[in-house]
Amino acid sequence: MTVRSGREFLAIPGPTTIPDEVLRAMDQPAVDIYSGPLLQITESLLTDLRRLFRTKGHSYIYIANGHGTWEAALTNVLSRGDKVLVLESGHFAVSWGSAAAKLGAEVEVLAGDWRRAVRREDLENRLAQDKAGAIKAILVAHIDTASGVINDISAIGAAIKRVGHDALLMVDTVASLGCVPFEMDAWGVDVAVSASQKGLMNPAGLGFIAASDYAREAHKKANLRTPYWDWTAREGEAHYQKYAGTPPEQHLFGLRRALDMLFEEGLDGVFLRHRLLAESVRQAVAVWSEGAALDFNIIESTERADTLTTIRLTDSCSPQPILDYCNEKCGVVLGLGIGALSGKAFRIAHMGHVNAPMIFGVLGSVEVALRALHIPHRAGGTQAAIDWLAQRVTP
Ligand SMILES: *Cc1c(COP(=O)(O)O)cnc(C)c1O
Repeated sequence: MTVRSGREFLAIPGPTTIPDEVLRAMDQPAVDIYSGPLLQITESLLTDLRRLFRTKGHSYIYIANGHGTWEAALTNVLSRGDKVLVLESGHFAVSWGSAAAKLGAEVEVLAGDWRRAVRREDLENRLAQDKAGAIKAILVAHIDTASGVINDISAIGAAIKRVGHDALLMVDTVASLGCVPFEMDAWGVDVAVSASQKGLMNPAGLGFIAASDYAREAHKKANLRTPYWDWTAREGEAHYQKYAGTPPEQHLFGLRRALDMLFEEGLDGVFLRHRLLAESVRQAVAVWSEGAALDFNIIESTERADTLTTIRLTDSCSPQPILDYCNEKCGVVLGLGIGALSGKAFRIAHMGHVNAPMIFGVLGSVEVALRALHIPHRAGGTQAAIDWLAQRVTP
């Protein structure tokens, strides 16, 4: 028997739930690409992306997923043989670094840990050794979607300044933009990349970059540039140049609607909603973890991301039955553990178009699974989330 018929809940950290308003906005016929409303939509999107990234720099829209946007960022500012320092705190910055290596950069990984954020002191020490300034760029994920960590980009930016190093700071915000505060200019970020299918509530297919003036200076000397990704070509006057060809019209209509929704709610409201729902999930996990079969992957509570929670299981316990039970019996699709956490963890996303019933539906279903499968846990995690939220969300 199952209780899964009804709306399926996608609780994976991307793609996330697409709002019905966005789907409806996309359901439009093609329009002219040389005149009319599309030109205005492009201008407004480029402006509003700068507003989201919090930068006075330049913004670019690509037809690409996050991986494509990584490549766009690297090829625009690096030259063959440039040294790149990757700050490890999970899967994604390291993957971005692998792309840099394949493009011909010399990549060094500043070894980190999948259970904690990047340590600022480690970075400072490494940069202080680089007297010759060999390191041209530093790659880091704001939120790592495998480990569930949030890195303190402000502290990383400040560390680079303190050492007086002139490497570019390049940040992956695919799993954070539009969900938690990000301050590109104030934090000293030179290149920020993001994508449409996570906090920005759209289908996969659009990638975004913001670049500082310092990054655009580096761009002038970069020899990894290619015609399609190239910023200079995309800064051309003609509308089609901004997309290096035909604009992805329906995706742009969807993005326009999604950004309007974020601004209508107010970014502070959006960030607070994410924080409240994330903390509800953490309240539940903290209770369940007293049964000693599962625990937070990220050890330090202040380093846990507000967009997803990675829950690791003890070696004797596989996450697969929980995932299967939630999906097949309850209609909730949880995220698998990936990379080093493959087969050892599951992930609950609380990112983008999420509200209380979605989160409580997920928590309740996970708790049903834990009980039905006889996985040791302390009961009452969902209740703890309810109690916690009731104290914060007051009439
Ligand atoms: C999802 C994700 C990516 C990869 O994005 P794709 O669109 O799947 O290529 C990169 N970085 C982070 C932090 C992500 O969460």
